[in-house]
Amino acid sequence: MLPLIDPFGRTVDYLRISVTDRCDFRCVYCMSENMTFLPKSEVLSLEEIDRIATAFVRRGTRKLRLTGGEPLVRRGVVDLIARLSRHVASGDLDEITLTTNGSQLRKFASDLFAAGVRRINVSLDTLDPAKFAKITRWGRLEQVLDGIAAAKEAGLHVKINMVALKGLNDDEIDTMLAWTAANGHDLVLIETMPLGAIDEDRADRYLPLKAVRRDLETRHTLIDLIDQTGGPARYVRIVETGQRLGFITPLTHNFCEGCNRVRLTATGQLFLCLGQDDAADLRAVLRATEDNGILDAALDEAISRKPKGHDFVIDRTARAPAVARHMSVTGG
Ligand code: SAM
Ligand code: SF4
Repeated sequence: MLPLIDPFGRTVDYLRISVTDRCDFRCVYCMSENMTFLPKSEVLSLEEIDRIATAFVRRGTRKLRLTGGEPLVRRGVVDLIARLSRHVASGDLDEITLTTNGSQLRKFASDLFAAGVRRINVSLDTLDPAKFAKITRWGRLEQVLDGIAAAKEAGLHVKINMVALKGLNDDEIDTMLAWTAANGHDLVLIETMPLGAIDEDRADRYLPLKAVRRDLETRHTLIDLIDQTGGPARYVRIVETGQRLGFITPLTHNFCEGCNRVRLTATGQLFLCLGQDDAADLRAVLRATEDNGILDAALDEAISRKPKGHDFVIDRTARAPAVARHMSVTGG
């Protein structure tokens, strides 16, 4: 079958799947405290997710990432992963990964490994328990650190995602670098993105990573690595520690040229770009027909609409978010 290639010649071979919009945390930059979640009937069943993911694999998708909301609060998610692993076993898929807040890892880490997961991303913005509680509102740092330890014990490689937040964790980047180096985790810093209404003003928290890098360079030697992973992160090596550090800079550096991904929401909407509103309703196609040829045609039609890129801005004149939906809807 032909690969999925968009109008700008980019091959789409990476699908991120939000398996639920629900979460056991309420991170300040991601959600408001009072969220209304989707009714169950709107959400794709695990079988429906499998059918869409399999359609993508048939068209050349090499990597699946499950996200959310918090993917590990969706009942049956490990079974879904175990089922999808047949594509890894057959060689059609390179890997299935997960982005998680880590709260449920003690419970699920070894099951995830047994289901075929080898690498996960865990979001962790601070190592200070009080700040952690402030950022996540409902989370407990101790539980997440224990979850990360469980992941490591289970043999999972852990990458830590840290959203850089002015006045909240910008003084902790060195601490986080030292902690990740000591524990053998990679670290990626992320700029906060204007997605969905939250309870505070994002401009107050927006910290351009260029400034973070300049600051790090006063204490460390950073070497740009050409070796990219195909994702939006740009990596440097910190000479003094040998550690790799990634930067995801949707605002200060637009990384759309190399974009190889699309995102499926928990309701089966396929977003062609994290920062644009256009989506294709794959759930309607799924529920209308058993014919995978029609589903296949829907994928082609959707990919033909993939936009060139996003145009995020965060400043005080642009009060409204760039897109109305939260990151937990599209899947981070
Ligand atoms: N609940 C899981 C977690 O937190 O890892 C997966 C979903 S979460 C939406 C995925 C990633 O998006 C997390 O690393 C989170 O920090 C990040 N994120 C959420 N809202 C964001 C925003 N407005 N800007 C930048 N990153 C955001
Ligand atoms: Fe939940 Fe992840 Fe959003 Fe935090 S960033 S509220 S953990 S979905």
